[in-house]
Amino acid sequence: MLKIKSEEEIELLRQNNLLVSKTLAEVAKLVRPGATTEILDRRAEEFIRDNGAEPGFKGYHGFPNTLCTSVNSQVVHGIPSSYQLIEGDIISIDCGVKKNGYYGDTAFTFRVGQIDESIAKLLRVTREALWKGVEQAIAGKRLGDIGFAVQAHAEKNGFSVVREMVGHGLGSNLHEPPEVPNYGKRGKGPKIPEGLVICIEPMINLGKKEILQDRDGWTIRTLDKKPSAHFEFALVVRKGKADVLSTFSYIDKVLNNKTY
Ligand code: MG
Ligand code: MG
Repeated sequence: MLKIKSEEEIELLRQNNLLVSKTLAEVAKLVRPGATTEILDRRAEEFIRDNGAEPGFKGYHGFPNTLCTSVNSQVVHGIPSSYQLIEGDIISIDCGVKKNGYYGDTAFTFRVGQIDESIAKLLRVTREALWKGVEQAIAGKRLGDIGFAVQAHAEKNGFSVVREMVGHGLGSNLHEPPEVPNYGKRGKGPKIPEGLVICIEPMINLGKKEILQDRDGWTIRTLDKKPSAHFEFALVVRKGKADVLSTFSYIDKVLNNKTY
């Protein structure tokens, strides 16, 4: 049932996730008040094609764009539009690529200018929660260990975990078994084998955990209209320590040099 990847497949997946990481850094340069989410999407598609890959999401189950751009109370799967970002917004940007028959899939939530302290904490804690999950993605551990670690960190900080949307296996399909929930019980669920490639992607809400889907058939929002954050890594399960295929280092470099 679970597809264990060969080292050759893992190297292709690594290249693809590095390309997604670099694409997100290109997009990071454009995230500012006044930018439309369509402009971000266009830049991402151009950069991906310039690097000999295809957008991984465009056309996937009919999704119309290269990026999922989810602003403020939008959790995930937001569709790029003429919406202009404003100071104080946050925007989750999820990006996929396909090259050589394999996918890449990574996401980051950006602030637009200065944001509220409580929302800054949401971003920090969600990113930390992702790493808490990564630390559990070790051969022989169970899926519940990952979910528990993510959930415990989010809830300890007063936030809530979206239940309906989960992480997943990654390979020649964008979504492969297993589902990787961001909640769970320590020591429960299937064992995770070495060589499994998964995406861990906590979606953490400032308020309550409930979500709903827009009439557009894609956009997921928080029911209480409070902000939600989303960070995602692809990784290989290994003995002792996960091998993370994505990186935020290119994004952080852009953001650290950025003046609004
Ligand atoms: Mg994603
Ligand atoms: Mg994903």
